[in-house]
Amino acid sequence: MRYLERTWGGALIMPRLPALSDRAQALKPSLTLEISARAKELLQQGQDICSLSAGEPDFDTPEFIVEAAQKALGDGLTRYGPAAGDPDLRAAVAEKLTVENGIPTKASEVLITNGGKQAIYNLFQVLLNPGDEVLIPAPYWLSYPEMARLAGASVNLIPSQADEGFRLDVDALERSIRPQSRLLIINTPGNPTGRVMQRDELEAVVDLLSRHPQLLVMSDEIYEFLLAEGQTHISFASLAEDLRSRCFTVNGFAKGWAMTGWRLGYLAGDEQVIKAAAALQSQSTSNVCSFAQRGALAALNGSRDCVRDMAASYNRRRRMLSDGLREIEGIVLEDPTGAFYAFPQLPTSINDSMDFCRRALEEVGLAVVPGAAFGDDRCIRLSCAVSRETIGDGLQRLRTMLHRF
Ligand code: PLP
Repeated sequence: MRYLERTWGGALIMPRLPALSDRAQALKPSLTLEISARAKELLQQGQDICSLSAGEPDFDTPEFIVEAAQKALGDGLTRYGPAAGDPDLRAAVAEKLTVENGIPTKASEVLITNGGKQAIYNLFQVLLNPGDEVLIPAPYWLSYPEMARLAGASVNLIPSQADEGFRLDVDALERSIRPQSRLLIINTPGNPTGRVMQRDELEAVVDLLSRHPQLLVMSDEIYEFLLAEGQTHISFASLAEDLRSRCFTVNGFAKGWAMTGWRLGYLAGDEQVIKAAAALQSQSTSNVCSFAQRGALAALNGSRDCVRDMAASYNRRRRMLSDGLREIEGIVLEDPTGAFYAFPQLPTSINDSMDFCRRALEEVGLAVVPGAAFGDDRCIRLSCAVSRETIGDGLQRLRTMLHRF
C-alpha cells in the first residue's frame, strides 16, 4: 500500500511507503532464500538442477497419522480449542517426556505450538529483555539469532571447529559468560552439523549451569529420533535434576514423523513460563490447528516403527553422503551422526560460502546451502533427505565445482 503525501495546498509532493518498525528493519532475510529462489527459477527455465538443500524429510506423513487427522475433521473438530493445546496431546507429550526422555513432566508444563519454531519464538519472547544476551554455539540453526534479536536480546556466538567435529568447547563457553548472559542454546542432534552431543559434554554444561545461577538453557531436540547406529539421544533436562526449573525443552513432530507442513511442536518447562508463553500464544495465533493436533496424538500413541524405518533410511543415505564427501581432497568432515545433514569445511582456497554456492548453482546446477547462513563461512550444508541418485549426482557436481578453485 502506498501513502500519498500532500502539501497544505493539496499538491502531491511524493509518494512514500509506510515506515517499517525498527524490529522489521533489523530482521535479516534468510540467506538461504536467495539460493533456493534462484534454484527454482533455473528449474523453471528447464535447467538441470541437482538440489541437496532440503531441510525436511522426503517421506510422506505415515498413513495412520493422516487418518487420525481426517477422522478428527470428519468428527467435526473444527472449532477453537484451548490456546495451550489439546489437553490430551499435552498429557501425551508430558508422558513421552517423562518416560522416553527422563524428564518428569506434567501436562501443565507443556505448550503445544505451531512447530518447534513457535516454541522457540514464544520462549524467547517471554524470557528475554533488551540488554539480555543469548549464548549460541556456532554453527547454529539460522533462526536462533534472529529470534533472539526480535526479542530485543543480543547474541554471543561460541565458535567450534570442523576439524574437532564441532565439539562444544565448554571452557570457551564459560569464558564467554557475562553478567547479561541469560539463555544458552543447546541443539542435539544439531542442524547444520548433524552432530550428536555426548553425555560428558552435556554433563559439563550442567556443571557450568550450576556455577552460573542467572543462566537458563533451551535444549532443541527436534532431531532426537534421527541418530546413526550406536548413538543415543540424551535430553539435557534429564541430566539437570536439581536445575530443572532453568531448563526448557523444544521438540516437534516435523522431522521424526515427517510432518513439516502440519506445524506441530511443543515447549516444556517451568509451569509459570509455560503459562506466560500460552498467554502470548492466546494473543497471537491461538491454538494450533485442532484436527492436526489429533494427528500428533496418534503419532505419539502409535508404533514407532515408522520413525525407526525413516531414521534407518537417512542413516544409509547420510553414510553415502559423508563417505563421498570425505573422499574429496581438501574437505574436512567428521562423520555426522544425527539429523539428515553434512556440514563439510571446504578446501582452504574457499572462504566465501555464499559466493561458492552461487557459482555452484550457476555453473554446475548444484543447490547447496552456504555455511554463512549458519555462522561458518568455510562450510556448506548438504542434505541427505533426497534419493541416492541425487546424492551421487550432487557429489559429482561438487567435485567438478571444487576443481575450479
Ligand atoms: N530447530 C531446528 C534445529 C530446526 O532445524 C528446525 C527446522 O528446520 C526447527 C527447530 C523448527 O522446526 P518446525 O518445523 O517444527 O518449526
